[in-house]
Amino acid sequence: MILVTGGAGYIGSHTNKALHNAGYDTVVLDNLSKGYENFVKWGTLENYDIGSSDLREVFEKYDIDGVIHFAGFISVAESVEMPQKYLKNNYKNTINLLKVMREYGVDKFIFSSTAAVYGNPEKIPITEDSNLKPINPYGHSKWLVEKALEREAEKGDFNYVALRYFNASGCDFDGQIGEFHDPETHLIPLILDAAIGKRDCIYIYGDDYDTPDGTCIRDYIHVNDLADAHIKAYEYLCNEGESDVFNLGNGQGFSVREVIEMCKKVTGRDFEVKVDERREGDPARLVADSSKIRNKLGWTPQYDLEKIVESAWMWHQKINGI
Ligand code: UDP
Repeated sequence: MILVTGGAGYIGSHTNKALHNAGYDTVVLDNLSKGYENFVKWGTLENYDIGSSDLREVFEKYDIDGVIHFAGFISVAESVEMPQKYLKNNYKNTINLLKVMREYGVDKFIFSSTAAVYGNPEKIPITEDSNLKPINPYGHSKWLVEKALEREAEKGDFNYVALRYFNASGCDFDGQIGEFHDPETHLIPLILDAAIGKRDCIYIYGDDYDTPDGTCIRDYIHVNDLADAHIKAYEYLCNEGESDVFNLGNGQGFSVREVIEMCKKVTGRDFEVKVDERREGDPARLVADSSKIRNKLGWTPQYDLEKIVESAWMWHQKINGI
């Protein structure tokens, strides 16, 4: 049995579905503060907070072989305003989870890390051995967990894989689950809101970056490709793989303007685009070198930006009754 924390959230629910399709049993642990009960269509939902001592009840009740840990807050902007909240939820609560895992002898851990651990990278594409200098509390909280995992692995009887996601995007192609954040802060769903007229326009956060069109460049990776990487990482640990860290991105960067153009093409709709101030904590470029996970775990991403936007658009139409 695999414990999927945060399995009612965006990436967690897609991975939970992929685990079931691959024949695994799961128990989803989620306090539903950000997740949705109806995203847990596979496995059993247990409503617990990972920071609570009651967590032991879950380890008593189920025979858990490993943990895939998604639970955490994800907004860079919110983390700048409320750093303590990120320290508590993303770091301290994970320490509690690790403590309980050790008590119950659960020795496999897959961690949702982030490209935000790199801060403003010195070279593009980014390799895993680049310097880690997070520039916002969100990235810092994930970096702290990575350090804690190194220490935990050094103690022995514990192995982990930390996956540094670049920009998770797109949705389940069956339309069963998708991306739904409240409030929404992510670029693609916000553009699609503009496309359906739910928002008057899309704001570009800064067009004076040192990039060809002045807008930030990101590496968008389909959530199903992320899900597949989690399964490969878990199986790697089951086959005695040693603790490791991998980037997860497509390896191709797209500017905010390019993403907007792709959304216009896929939806066939036009909408207003306005330029706003830069958003605090945003590096100009984040593009992954994912050759390590390709070579070591045999992972290959399947979906390009067009497929990402097509799947997001399908979901967006569904939830908005279009
Ligand atoms: N962005 C933007 N307008 C928006 C939302 C996001 O210009 O309404 C930009 C943001 O500055 C970043 C990129 O789009 O460069 C991706 O942002 P998102 O919040 O989706 O993901 P992040 O890169 O923060 O993980």
